[in-house]
Amino acid sequence: MKLVTFTRGQTAEIGVVINDTTIAPLGHLAPDMIALIANWDIARPKVEALAAAPEETVDIASARLLAPVPRPGKIFAIGLNYADHVAETGMQTPSNQIWFTKAGTSVNGPYDSVQIPRGSMMTDYEVELVAVIGKGGRHISKDDATAHVFGYCIGNDVTERAWQMRTPQFSLGKSFDTHAPFGPWITTSDTAGNIHNLGIRCFVNGEERQSSNTRHLIFNLWEQIAELSQAMTLEPGDVIFTGTPGGVGMAMKPMTMLKAGDVVRCEVDGLGHIESSFVAE
Ligand code: ZN
Repeated sequence: MKLVTFTRGQTAEIGVVINDTTIAPLGHLAPDMIALIANWDIARPKVEALAAAPEETVDIASARLLAPVPRPGKIFAIGLNYADHVAETGMQTPSNQIWFTKAGTSVNGPYDSVQIPRGSMMTDYEVELVAVIGKGGRHISKDDATAHVFGYCIGNDVTERAWQMRTPQFSLGKSFDTHAPFGPWITTSDTAGNIHNLGIRCFVNGEERQSSNTRHLIFNLWEQIAELSQAMTLEPGDVIFTGTPGGVGMAMKPMTMLKAGDVVRCEVDGLGHIESSFVAE
């Protein structure tokens, strides 16, 4: 199933996507996506029934899609998690998982424009597989982790490289407003296939910049969930950016940063695509 948060005007609504073209609204089942996820065991048969026989439909082309979880409780992202990306940065393969946060206010819709911040010369892209937590928990084992994932999205871990690199801590450079676009919908984990064997690509103005496969993750998603949940309780709707492959703009020769007018498209096999126009703040 594919679940969206969308708006027809001012208010955000949730819905299930039918045939990639139509949304059946689910507002009577839960007030927002996090509540729907938290109540999924009870809501799921009702959502399935509505997807098969919708009472009301909205043409997806007439709606604006928001990030499926517009304000996650937590957004964590892992650094240096594909070998070719480690190599292009000149860093060592990490022996421990390198985690940073992205601010809740950095969340952006899958087709909304992304800001090149005032004064920035170093805005960069990072296509990533994004996981959305379903059942929460603490001390989740690698073997149990799959049962705690609600579904998957495509994300762009947009990065201010100068801010990222000038201190040991990445989070400020990863947290500018609009710099966490993800979506376009949550593909529920039962229909996403083997998420450790998905093609992942990023295009800038139609030119392929990143192309890899999630099988090349250094720490896979189950290891990531086990690590994070040793430290903290994971909750429904928490979001994990699982790392980016090689091909980022900072590593190009010459280094090629994003500029106003650029269009960045991110794809993961089976999950759709997101696309952002970059604009000056
Ligand atoms: Zn990243």
